Amino acid sequence: MFYFLLGSIFGSFGHVLVSRLTSRENFLTGRSRCDACQQQLAAYDLLPIVSYFILRGKCRHCATLIPKSILLLEIFSGLLLFFSLSCWHSWLIFFWLFTALLLSLEDFWTQQVDLRLLLISQIILLIAYGFTGSIWHLETLGLAVIFLGGLFLVAGRKIGLADLLLLLFWSPLFHMEHWLMLIIVASLSGLLFSRANQPLPFIPFLSFALVITLIIAK
Ligand SMILES: [Zn+2]
Repeated sequence: MFYFLLGSIFGSFGHVLVSRLTSRENFLTGRSRCDACQQQLAAYDLLPIVSYFILRGKCRHCATLIPKSILLLEIFSGLLLFFSLSCWHSWLIFFWLFTALLLSLEDFWTQQVDLRLLLISQIILLIAYGFTGSIWHLETLGLAVIFLGGLFLVAGRKIGLADLLLLLFWSPLFHMEHWLMLIIVASLSGLLFSRANQPLPFIPFLSFALVITLIIAK
């Protein structure tokens, strides 16, 4: 329960981070405000999950509906931390999945990804992975450079740079066969949901495939 609540706090923070990155606000100095009436929110209105239900999903000042995505992200992040620690005993896995979740949300909302968020979070992930005493799978990284580089040259316009970068960053964390499996699962699940002539936010599918692959690779 404690870890669930802690995870939901991360989720709450993550939602602020992503929504401010997408609206180009300064997330370091800005205080939390209602998106509709711009009233500053008090600390007791910012409790993860709890506040949503106390306020019945509406802003205290203007009664505008609070986006359900906030509640969903908080609950999801809580579950993520709970399962990361109980199944993998690993904060690293939580960080990995949590950043994938935030990037998915951003991709889903805006069809693009803030490269600063991607680069900073994934470099931290790689370094943290090194500190756990695990070795990087350089052979997978080598394959990824060749494979993704070729893909970029052939179809760089059609595939998002962020998708390729994520696959590249994740490659040294996997055995080769697991990394290939990740791509296959992501592509197949993406195909199921693709509509003709509509851009598909692909990071949610990569993240889904990441969960599946981590469970299998365990
Ligand atoms: Zn309001």
